Amino acid sequence: MKVISILGSTGSIGRSTLSVVDLHPEKFKIFALSGFNNNDLLLEQAIKFKPSFIVTKNLFSKKILMDKLKDTKLKTEVLYGDEGYTFIASHEKVTTVVAAITGSAGLISTIEAAKNGKQILLANKESMVMAGELINKICVENNSTLIPVDSEHNAIFQVLSKNSDSEEIKKIILTASGGPFRFHSLKNLQKVTVEEALNHPNWKMGKKISIDSATMMNKGLEVIEASHLFRLGIKKIEVVMHPQSIIHSFVEYIDGSSLSQMGSPDMRVPIAYALGYPNRITSGVEGVLLDKLSSLEFYKPDLKKFRCLDLCYQALAMGDAHCISLNASNEIAVEAFLSGKINFIQIPELIEKMLLKTEVMNVNSVEHILELDNYARDETNKILNKTL
Ligand code: MG
Repeated sequence: MKVISILGSTGSIGRSTLSVVDLHPEKFKIFALSGFNNNDLLLEQAIKFKPSFIVTKNLFSKKILMDKLKDTKLKTEVLYGDEGYTFIASHEKVTTVVAAITGSAGLISTIEAAKNGKQILLANKESMVMAGELINKICVENNSTLIPVDSEHNAIFQVLSKNSDSEEIKKIILTASGGPFRFHSLKNLQKVTVEEALNHPNWKMGKKISIDSATMMNKGLEVIEASHLFRLGIKKIEVVMHPQSIIHSFVEYIDGSSLSQMGSPDMRVPIAYALGYPNRITSGVEGVLLDKLSSLEFYKPDLKKFRCLDLCYQALAMGDAHCISLNASNEIAVEAFLSGKINFIQIPELIEKMLLKTEVMNVNSVEHILELDNYARDETNKILNKTL
């Protein structure tokens, strides 16, 4: 039986994970759940799955949850803050950690899980973007395994679990829906609203990743994530637009064969593969209805329109420090867009300015990563304040 801690159980990935777990009570036991802002949902999940621990953001939330838990007969203990997230990621009883906290906030808990030899179901791409090589090294040293949950990486992982000789791989191709603005002209992007940007045509997701999908930063972060997960150079990772989100990526081999995974655009499919690995389990999702598909389209991304994607390739070429800067400045830029401080096309402008201020350097400790991350946030805020 897999004993699971979910970091970020109240978010979209966390909720989908619990819905798959719920189908297989004989295979999975929920040891701990964690949320940030949504205490009501965290409590509801605790009552249903009876974990030993739940973790919330601060002492105040802990008090609220403890009071509410008194009315139930649950023995669930409430923890809070970074210590709490680290505790449930590293606890000896846990076999499997679902890393589904959005953004850089998920980095430390993911590293703790790796240090403690856990099987990590990785949905937090930012931690690989910030610290990919370091996480790989810690995983090897501590016998920890990473199973990607991100649908594109999960698709590649499914293919590579059978044919993974890197000499035989010509390239991998990540598919991208293009988000809500795939048909917009560059000029029209200036006027898009927050509401339009949040309205992804194929996937229902959290705010940060929805904006990242609209700018295609999400795909760029996935390129960087893929380079670390599959240990492939930048020239072996391509992106193709595929508006239907049915084929979730390709692996092209040297003999001219391309292998891919298809599935409905529903995160329960990759989550079920990751949870059940190396076996397959039901996800609650129907297979693709081929006769209902009118067409599957593919075309090249427009890098002038989606500058964030181009910036990700450039950051990857420049190295670790630039990937950390890119990720941090993007988080600041997305928040600034969501709060109406900047318009949509200022997001890549802000990131590019921050990348120009970043020096090339080797990064090989968590402390150094966090220092660079903080520096990039401060500097991006300074650039932002000058812009306003
Ligand atoms: Mg994805």
